[in-house]
Amino acid sequence: MPGMRVLVVEDDEGIAHGLELALRHEGWAADTVPGVEAAWSALTVEPFDIVLLDLGLADGDGAQVLQRLRRAPPGRLPDPATPVLIMTARDQVASRIAGLDMGADDYVTKPFDAGELAARIRALRRRAAGRAQPELLWGELAIDPAARRVTRAGKAVELSSREFGVLMALMEARPRVLSRQQIEASLYNWESLLDSNAIEVHVHHLRRKLGDGVIRTLRGVGYFVPAEPAP
Ligand code: CA
Repeated sequence: MPGMRVLVVEDDEGIAHGLELALRHEGWAADTVPGVEAAWSALTVEPFDIVLLDLGLADGDGAQVLQRLRRAPPGRLPDPATPVLIMTARDQVASRIAGLDMGADDYVTKPFDAGELAARIRALRRRAAGRAQPELLWGELAIDPAARRVTRAGKAVELSSREFGVLMALMEARPRVLSRQQIEASLYNWESLLDSNAIEVHVHHLRRKLGDGVIRTLRGVGYFVPAEPAP
């Protein structure tokens, strides 16, 4: 499910790097912070779709982040509804139980399997979006986020991973309008530099491949996908 932005809270540089690679391989944007305070700062300034939270951090217990997050007032950042996946060692059953009871949505054990981690993140994201079925349907379009496959009236549509990310961001937000910056933020890391025309170019290609009715422009504001296709 590209278009997703993940905060990795992990103090072990090797593990953090492995997680970043696994997440980017899925086409997701990953930002990594090493501790409790840095995690809180990140959550306060940016919205994240998922938090991967190590419980044993150098400057404290990751559970502190979880507890503070779940107690935060709704309607502003940090968003207390942000899905959280905790990471523990295989033998740390007690801390997994405590974490789940404290409001974590799921867990993975280290060493993690990249495929399982990605599947758990997709499942969390589906639940957060309020849908149980893995495929997203919109008119003649069927989008399979796990396989990153799009069909239109049953025919495969070939999209680049960035195009797929733009489409997923707009589909998941529909019918809300997303600005270019919001689309970029869901695709790229903080440190990445991006040609300011890139989103327009991706949208142009998507329209050519999917037809004109899917992605609409709200002039001067951004792009959106209508809640339902035009009849
Ligand atoms: Ca650790």
